[in-house]
Amino acid sequence: MLDNKDFSAWLSRLSDSHDIYGPKKTRKGMLEWARLEGGQLPDPEPGVPKSSIKTFYFPQPETLFEFSARPKKEDAFRLHEPSRHQNPRLLIGVRPCDARSVVLNSMPYQEDPYFQENRRNTFLLGYACSQGCSTCFCTWTGGSPVGQDGLDILAFLLEDGLVLEPVTERGEELLEKAGSARDLTRAQEQKVDEIRQKAPASLPEEMEPAPRLREKELMALYDAPFWQELSDSCINCGTCTFLCPTCYCFDIQDETLRGRGRRIRYWDSCMFPLFTLHASGHNPRGEKIKRVRNRFMHKLKYFPDRFGPLSCVGCGRCVRDCPVNIDIRQVMKELLAI
Ligand code: SF4
Ligand code: SF4
Repeated sequence: MLDNKDFSAWLSRLSDSHDIYGPKKTRKGMLEWARLEGGQLPDPEPGVPKSSIKTFYFPQPETLFEFSARPKKEDAFRLHEPSRHQNPRLLIGVRPCDARSVVLNSMPYQEDPYFQENRRNTFLLGYACSQGCSTCFCTWTGGSPVGQDGLDILAFLLEDGLVLEPVTERGEELLEKAGSARDLTRAQEQKVDEIRQKAPASLPEEMEPAPRLREKELMALYDAPFWQELSDSCINCGTCTFLCPTCYCFDIQDETLRGRGRRIRYWDSCMFPLFTLHASGHNPRGEKIKRVRNRFMHKLKYFPDRFGPLSCVGCGRCVRDCPVNIDIRQVMKELLAI
């Protein structure tokens, strides 16, 4: 247990060796990731920040290498080593759904040195959610508002400070530097137990779509009329995929300026028609219905077939920000009802 003053002092000491980030409220009142300096604390507002933490693992854009148009020069080709951060990063106030997204994204990216180095270099101190928001549904997708997946330390916020639980060995090492920790009182222990029990019940009604979707023959629904109705309202803006912590599609391009160039990897979206356009001109997902269907089938069928879990952590960002109110929870229910 650390009171807020000691927590802040610990962060202040850690900021000599770590770059620290956490969710802060912007002037428009929404949460967004911000650099925390001098022992500054994140805002403990409920819910997830506008952007997901994939920006820390999968930067937008990421330089893979640089090159020169004068190939005889010594620096004609310079590979960017994956580890480019001076300091390790510590993200504070990560919600359990976002932390779990790192574990899921590590599955397709297990051989990707850039992603994996960012993962090694980034410590996650999570805040357990004591209350779900109206768009949260982590319990539907195998997560929990008090889950530990992907975290190094899990914190429970109490009125008089934080209860910090180490999850990984490196999380424990970080906590050893906190110094002035106290043992929990009986009342504090009870409060933590209460959060653990009550937080999952604050989320929408129990539904376990993952095992039910796995049992369902989703490929038999490939041509169901439901997809047409769904895609009629989608405007293919890509908001859902860019905000989603578990969407990880990318494209690669070369940029050149005055004889120097760099090859960059940047986010792309399966909702955009150019994403699947072949050099031949053929586009296997040229129509909107195919792209909308692919997004949901990838999350609910193809990814689970390959890796096990759904490719969704129930953070609710796509529900919150889709301009035409397409709701993945409704899609799951409809697929299960057909
Ligand atoms: S945010 Fe909504 S409208 Fe935009 S691409 Fe996603 S589902 Fe379609
Ligand atoms: S699909 Fe929607 S709810 Fe699921 S992880 Fe992505 S943004 Fe969050």
